[in-house]
Amino acid sequence: ADEARIAFDNLADRTSDLINPTVRLGVTGLSRAGKTVFISALVHNLLHGGRLPLFSPAAGDRIARTYLEEQPDDAVPRFQYEDHIARLLDERDWPNSTRAISELRLTIEYESASGWSRLFSRGKLSIDIVDYPGEWLLDLPLIDKSFATFSAESIERARLPGRRQIAGEFLAALDAVDPAAPMDEPTAQRLSRAFSAYLTAARSDNTALSTLPPGRFLMPGDLEGSPALTFAPIPAAKDGSYPKSSLGAVLERRYEAYKTVVVKPFFRDHFARLDRQILLVDALQAINAGPEAVRDLEIALADILRCFRPGRSSWLSSLLSRRIDRILVAATKADHLHRESHRRLEAVVRRLVDGAVKRADFSGAETQVIAMAAIRATREARIEDRGEDLPVIVGVPQAGERIGEETFDGRRETAIFPGDLPKDPGVLFTDADGKAERADPIRFVRFRPPRLERTDEGLTLSLPHIRLDRALEFLVGDRLK
Ligand code: GDP
Repeated sequence: ADEARIAFDNLADRTSDLINPTVRLGVTGLSRAGKTVFISALVHNLLHGGRLPLFSPAAGDRIARTYLEEQPDDAVPRFQYEDHIARLLDERDWPNSTRAISELRLTIEYESASGWSRLFSRGKLSIDIVDYPGEWLLDLPLIDKSFATFSAESIERARLPGRRQIAGEFLAALDAVDPAAPMDEPTAQRLSRAFSAYLTAARSDNTALSTLPPGRFLMPGDLEGSPALTFAPIPAAKDGSYPKSSLGAVLERRYEAYKTVVVKPFFRDHFARLDRQILLVDALQAINAGPEAVRDLEIALADILRCFRPGRSSWLSSLLSRRIDRILVAATKADHLHRESHRRLEAVVRRLVDGAVKRADFSGAETQVIAMAAIRATREARIEDRGEDLPVIVGVPQAGERIGEETFDGRRETAIFPGDLPKDPGVLFTDADGKAERADPIRFVRFRPPRLERTDEGLTLSLPHIRLDRALEFLVGDRLK
């Protein structure tokens, strides 16, 4: 049934593609990586003639018209572009982050680059931007995993030294239940809540441990509270299977339901239809949290990238009749560093995804890594400090942000020396024995979004960015020739 459904979707997509050329662009990344900000900035720059010198149709002055259109999928929430932009520009505050899947169609009418086709007609390309949490991709391995294996792995991980403490409540709740006892809803809910609280705590700012499945426990979307999301791993049954109607048996059934009604439909209806993909990575947060967090991020990114190139015989590859042929891995928030460190940030992210790209069969997919800021909240400057010439960034730190003793009030522009990323990215990574040097932390504060600049003629410029145009060029430039 999955195959038939997919074949139908693909046929429908292809047919409409003939009439109206379309590229389906997936935007993903772990929570707070910058998906919402990226999409808002990209659309705003295209709609308002932003400065995009590295995006060839804009550089060649070939864009005739850009506008938002009705999206093709009626059952997917629309990306709330207008709300996000209002918050960014009117309140100078960051928009609400991605919690579930959403979609937006942006259409570009352009003049062809070659004089010959220009004679005939204007080209038109619709970009269907599909925004979804990277956490959801981490569920793919569950498809082939039994409840017993999932439970054993999850409980084992919760007991690891680095996690035991934050998992304390969940482990205690587990100790207090008997999987063979009759099913009891409050007990199931208590276990599930404790498990989900532990997964969430592992992802918090100061722990920054990687994300573990089930992805919807972190990003539930609209299924919060449903039975398919109210389960937890529990110890194996003594003799292979749980007694009928026992707590264990019901949790196992819900785990299977989670795969059938949550995981599979997402891959089949949305993921399998993507043509291009950008994966946003907040490496700075992990670097600041230390080598364990960097290692965890590396593992999570490898799991995510595996979805883009699944092994030939897997469930997912049987669904994919078209394949994502360009993948951009973008280190976000590069505006927190001085330009001199951007190359180093790129090197770190390249190193983060290198293993995964090498292991998976990425033939046929072009992969690129860049350092980017979808919205540049800072500008660069140099200051003299005790005879030393320091590269600094200048911006308005958000109210409540702190560096050392100083707490900011959200109003004053401040110059900050962010520190340097190490020349050799290797020092940020753990070696075979799990050891690493701890690099100096980056001085990292959240800045408020920038004010729009006005030119002398009173024109409002679009949102400033760093290399957003390069990202666009790689993702869709070839489709606008
Ligand atoms: P999502 O969960 O992936 O949708 O993440 P968001 O797009 O909501 O971004 C999370 C937070 O990261 C935002 O609220 C901003 O504080 C910050 N952020 C994201 N992108 C940028 C950027 O380009 N520059 C700066 N300075 N901050 C950013």
